[in-house]
Amino acid sequence: MKLSIAWLYPDLMSTYGDRGNIIVLTRRCQWRGIETRATQVTLETPARELAHCDLIFMGGAQDRQQKLVGEDFLKRKGPVVKDMVEKGIPALFVCAAYQFVGHYYKPYRGEKIAGAGIFDLYTEHPGDQAKRMIGNVVAELISSLSSRVRSDGDAISFGEIASSMTPRNDNTIVGFENHGGRTYLGPKIKPLAKVIKGFGNNGEDGHEGAVYKNAIGSYFHGPLLPKNPYIADWLIGKALEVKYGKEIPLAELDDTLEWQAHDSIL
Ligand code: GLN
Repeated sequence: MKLSIAWLYPDLMSTYGDRGNIIVLTRRCQWRGIETRATQVTLETPARELAHCDLIFMGGAQDRQQKLVGEDFLKRKGPVVKDMVEKGIPALFVCAAYQFVGHYYKPYRGEKIAGAGIFDLYTEHPGDQAKRMIGNVVAELISSLSSRVRSDGDAISFGEIASSMTPRNDNTIVGFENHGGRTYLGPKIKPLAKVIKGFGNNGEDGHEGAVYKNAIGSYFHGPLLPKNPYIADWLIGKALEVKYGKEIPLAELDDTLEWQAHDSIL
């Protein structure tokens, strides 16, 4: 088996160890004998090179880098990503990328940056005096709110998958957040998790991240996947399912170290 991973804007959008997500996806595939290739998609890469990929990752960035990427994502890569997400290709969008897949991001200074409108959400930075949302964060996946549809049409919940992948039946997700933007979800998208400690989407409604089809948006850096390995396996599992047209069980791995990292944040 083979998986091709698209890593969007690795040179401009990769903060707080986001690159670790690619390392984790690649290694967890290799340990199971699944061949992987991560394609670095930069401003110069033609958007069509994305289209053959089986899994998408895009990380965080400061406002300056976000402005540099804005037009390319809106006009070139974003529409291709939208099409792929609509077809069920799994994706992980962290922080600035999560803001980019919404309708727009209003930065702390300057014009709104239009997003690709893949997720029904928008993000606004409230201005100079706004408190940055920064620190280690813990949330709990909201399984009942994140019903998903398998390729065979059966509804299945993200939380169910997560707990079946989690040896200790734990639905917590941990990470590190640092953002000024506040994200608000529209009616067509569900939150990923409920914040236990930290800020999450906006520090007001108690939610963190969002799920749409097989795509996840989250504010969690740190990076996300090494400390929450079951999310990595959920993405890999979905990528295989979509590519090969059937559910492919993943061999269990020894995640002792990963859970130690998770627990130290908890
Ligand atoms: N520029 C965005 C904000 O501060 C995203 C920051 C990030 O990706 N860490 O809201």
